[in-house]
Amino acid sequence: MRIDLHTHSSCSDGTDTPTELVEVAKAAGLDVIALTDHDTTAGWDEAAAASERYGVTVVPGAELSCRLGGIQIHMLAYGFDRTEPEFARERNLLRDDRERRAELIVRRCQELGAPITWERVREIAGSASIGRPHVASALVEAGVIATVDDAFTSDWLADGGRAYVDKYALDPYRALELVRRSGGVTVFAHPAAGRRGRIVTDDQIADLARAGLRGIEVDHPDHDAAARLRIWGVAAELGLVPTGSSDYHGSRKTVRIGQETTTPAAYEALFVEMPPGASWLPYPGASDGV
Ligand code: AMP
Ligand code: ZN
Ligand code: FE
Ligand code: FE
Repeated sequence: MRIDLHTHSSCSDGTDTPTELVEVAKAAGLDVIALTDHDTTAGWDEAAAASERYGVTVVPGAELSCRLGGIQIHMLAYGFDRTEPEFARERNLLRDDRERRAELIVRRCQELGAPITWERVREIAGSASIGRPHVASALVEAGVIATVDDAFTSDWLADGGRAYVDKYALDPYRALELVRRSGGVTVFAHPAAGRRGRIVTDDQIADLARAGLRGIEVDHPDHDAAARLRIWGVAAELGLVPTGSSDYHGSRKTVRIGQETTTPAAYEALFVEMPPGASWLPYPGASDGV
């Protein structure tokens, strides 16, 4: 069974429609994917229809923008009731503020001499939950930089960079509570992705675990070998379910879908009851799943 629990569609900053996403998952030999667009569930229905058509299980999810002590972090929420009003309202607030902030980021880029327009960035994003990668695509199109990744430096869009603007983000403890009350489970996304900015401490992860965090991404393209070992150790100590996922974004990133995977045992532990004795820990033995 091949399982990838973190992917993006064109409903946020991925480039594949939810249908195309399921199609590439099938072609990559995956049995299960989770659709985890930033702060939106807009792709769920289309992904569910494609799931039937292609015979790939799709776990409905979202990647929630959070902030802990000034550090930007992402929480993956899975299997929640998207009609729960308070959580739905928060996702609305998060998306609305993404619009406000994207326009300001574009203005900053213009002030820095980049020949991009808000109209074009809006067009690139379409109806998606807008984010920095959409601005990055406009910068590439305008010839300012060569690749989307090149936008994430202090010169442009990286956290604290010249054109960076903060956005509304949830307190992760509130996110845990909203997901729990909506019947879902929460997994900490890429907790040790150092190249994206400051990262949390082991103590901060332990506090989140006590507050109901269920799992944590060990295998992620932005984790080097040392980061994977560190987070695997933290997961083992705290009884968190270790996951592995590609964080696929279509052609906006170079990662392939299914490049990192979650073991069937971890998948079961997340969505069924966690077995006593936790014999599902996958390391050492890499992220290829079984
Ligand atoms: P936003 O949600 O608008 O704050 O943008 C965050 C998104 O930008 C992430 O989900 C990634 O897709 C992308 N991103 C963040 N940091 C980097 C980075 N260092 N290199 C490439 N993409 C990044
Ligand atoms: Zn993204
Ligand atoms: Fe993320
Ligand atoms: Fe992501």
